[in-house]
Amino acid sequence: MTDDRPLTIALSKGRILKDTLPLLEAAGIRLLEDPEKSRKLIFETSRADVRIIIIRATDVPPYVQHGAADIGVAGKDVLMEHGAEGMYEPLDLDIAKCKLMVAAPVDAAPIVGRVRVATKFVNVARRYFAERGQQAEVIKLYGAMELAPIVGLADRIVDVVDTGNTLRANGLEPTELIAHVSSRLVVNRASMKTRHAAIQAIIDVLAEAVAARQAEARP
Ligand code: AMP
Repeated sequence: MTDDRPLTIALSKGRILKDTLPLLEAAGIRLLEDPEKSRKLIFETSRADVRIIIIRATDVPPYVQHGAADIGVAGKDVLMEHGAEGMYEPLDLDIAKCKLMVAAPVDAAPIVGRVRVATKFVNVARRYFAERGQQAEVIKLYGAMELAPIVGLADRIVDVVDTGNTLRANGLEPTELIAHVSSRLVVNRASMKTRHAAIQAIIDVLAEAVAARQAEARP
């Protein structure tokens, strides 16, 4: 049975969109208008059989998992938090790189007993401290995690760190690395079977574009 729906790719605004569009261009997929300047959520592309939806980064996994998008690009941090059920993760796009870290006030004393951790990555944080046998009370926040230790809401935070400038500006320092993060291509498991040729062709061209970029970046 053929599927006549356009192939749907889920992206999010910001870093991921900016770094993914040049890779998609290599696959002949170009947006017909600039999503950063539009309030639209669905965009046609230079390929009649491919459309792009622009959603929140944390919403990419559920859209792909449930098949509303066939393909998506999501940070490893978001995938670790959401879980990868119903999706393949065939390609590391090697973009939007950062680190998922524990951070503490500069020169903080070690925690004896239960640690209070503020984060938007509650599942990652619970798993991380449980694996170390450390009791943790994890407090879910939606932003500005750096504030939590300053005002006494938490002892530690778990957040993504790039340059570390945001931590330093708030009197914090990274203490433990949880994971290296980069953006990954994710594919709905059913789509991978029903639309295999079209999806595999996109994966192959993207893999080539990523390798070319990496070769260019090498000294
Ligand atoms: P930093 O360069 O460490 O000051 O990072 C500034 C803020 O940008 C961090 O607190 C993160 O919230 C965010 N950030 C940095 N890198 C990424 C990334 N690759 N993906 C998502 N958010 C990021």
